[in-house]
Amino acid sequence: MQKINENIYVESQLSMCNTSVVVTSAGVVVIDTPMLPANAKKVAAEIARFGPVRYVINTEPHGDHISGNCYFGGQVVTHEGTRDAILASKVDDFKNMLRMMAPDSPPVDSDFRFRPPDITFSDRLTLYLGKHTFRLINLPGHSPYQVAVHVPEERIVFTSDNIVVEGMPYFHQAVPLEWLKSLKEYEKLDVDKVVPGHGRVVDKSYIRQMAQTVQTFIDTVRSAIDKGLSLPEAQEQVTFEGLLPQIPRDERSADIIRMNVGRLYEVLKK
Ligand SMILES: [Zn+2]
Repeated sequence: MQKINENIYVESQLSMCNTSVVVTSAGVVVIDTPMLPANAKKVAAEIARFGPVRYVINTEPHGDHISGNCYFGGQVVTHEGTRDAILASKVDDFKNMLRMMAPDSPPVDSDFRFRPPDITFSDRLTLYLGKHTFRLINLPGHSPYQVAVHVPEERIVFTSDNIVVEGMPYFHQAVPLEWLKSLKEYEKLDVDKVVPGHGRVVDKSYIRQMAQTVQTFIDTVRSAIDKGLSLPEAQEQVTFEGLLPQIPRDERSADIIRMNVGRLYEVLKK
């Protein structure tokens, strides 16, 4: 785990998202849990030295942020929409997906289960633990249920996948126009460090770059709609070739872009 503040550690290698730990005088708060059970167990064992886990906060409903919950103690806290998503998750689907995504990982143990949250909220919730404050704010974007975790004493915000650093943003469940508004809300916070859902820790200047990325997706798909392209035509033709130079491409990029264009087309066409 990388130490990024006196009381904060971030794990990016063992987790498929960023798993963060805030150490308070009254116990530990974990923000998002590793997806692979073996890695979730490793991280849980590693952070035991900091004290008991009091809360696990899930910043969003997707499997890469919530699947490791069952390997951590404390109470799980998140948006009520994320609780619904966790309750609807099936262990067999999870096993199949891991076989596809991480074929080299050990099989899922029988102790795995989807652990639903104990505490939910819809708009805002504040947790006080030791000398730390955790302001949880619903900021829709990558999904309607995204949660920002602002810890004012550490001058830091954990953003969920509303901000990803040097990676492809996913729009499959996005509310794109709200996403832009939410990015303005992060900018208003008095923080020095921004922990994204994926990628390295950045400062506030990165928020503007993320907003440009989201805006480029919206503008490009909107212009395809304005030209009268059908959905399949838009998915064929909108490749962002020459755009989004900040996002490295790999063999999955084309599929993700196709999915993103599909969702944006559906939302913006209305
Ligand atoms: Zn996600």
